[in-house]
Amino acid sequence: MGEGKGYICPECGYSFTAMLGIGMRFPYVYRETVSAMKHGELGEEAQKFFAEHPDGAVSCELVMMKCAGCGEYDCRKALTMYVLKEGYAHEVPEGIWSTAMPHEGLDYVSPDEIKVSYTKYAEYPHKCEACGGDMQIVSDDAAKVCPNCGHELEDEGIAMLWD
Ligand SMILES: [Zn+2]
Ligand SMILES: [Zn+2]
Repeated sequence: MGEGKGYICPECGYSFTAMLGIGMRFPYVYRETVSAMKHGELGEEAQKFFAEHPDGAVSCELVMMKCAGCGEYDCRKALTMYVLKEGYAHEVPEGIWSTAMPHEGLDYVSPDEIKVSYTKYAEYPHKCEACGGDMQIVSDDAAKVCPNCGHELEDEGIAMLWD
């Protein structure tokens, strides 16, 4: 279950809702993402990563990111690339995601497994849609500043849940 968090600027009214986390479709999202990366749909760097590291993993949860150029926020799949730690092996998940959903045979690397068995290889080079600047992943609890007027954004809390 992912969550949607709302932020609003009390000064100018700028607002956005960030959809964060992972949903029930995660195993499918994972497979689609890896497939897109392997086919070069997400850039050369990602394609090269999987060519050189066939057992690499990628973080597919939604995270908040901020443009270093114009300060705009966006919410995207992290796409950070990981490789296995020495001595670790990927375990094909077996019905651990949800017994209610037919995920048998679907191979994916969960965020929990990444934490335990993998080490960061490279961050995906996210670009800002507004200005083309570099987007950097920002932590959930970092203070958010309005890209329009510089005032601190108010956290409206969890606006909704999504699956
Ligand atoms: Zn503002
Ligand atoms: Zn920008």
